[in-house]
Amino acid sequence: MDSIGFETHDHASCIADCIETANAQCKAQGLQFTPVRKRVLEILLQEHRALGAYEILDRLREEGMGSQPPVAYRALDFLVTNGFAHKIERLNAFIACTHPGEDHAPVFMICRKCKSVAEAQTVPTNGQLGQAARDAGFQIERTVVEAEGLCPKCQKADAKCT
Ligand SMILES: [Zn+2]
Ligand SMILES: [Zn+2]
Ligand SMILES: [Zn+2]
Repeated sequence: MDSIGFETHDHASCIADCIETANAQCKAQGLQFTPVRKRVLEILLQEHRALGAYEILDRLREEGMGSQPPVAYRALDFLVTNGFAHKIERLNAFIACTHPGEDHAPVFMICRKCKSVAEAQTVPTNGQLGQAARDAGFQIERTVVEAEGLCPKCQKADAKCT
């Protein structure tokens, strides 16, 4: 498992790499990586924090890139459909994928305090869930795993207060 959101990493190159990967993938698949779609992905990558559609719309509006909700929704829909971003059901919010271009089953760790989200990869067909599914003769196509708790930073902040 590797996760990015809670660890220190080279954030500038992380944004550039993800944008570059998305750009290359769009080109290869004949998809339009429009300025709005690119900007929404950049906004999502900036903080590794889940953002609601309205927060994204606010940013776009501030930057003069569109003020109509469908603009944000359509861009998010494009990013999610093509695997550049994920929807966090628990928060009804979106986060940039940290492994774009890879076929993966993401698992999210959501900090309930600062709302930062780390993405880890697992293979759901392994482990106990996979075993239970095999026992039941069930074929898993998609799983949603969202764990809620405290990130390392917020745990430290909590320890200071008490
Ligand atoms: Zn980063
Ligand atoms: Zn992902
Ligand atoms: Zn936190």
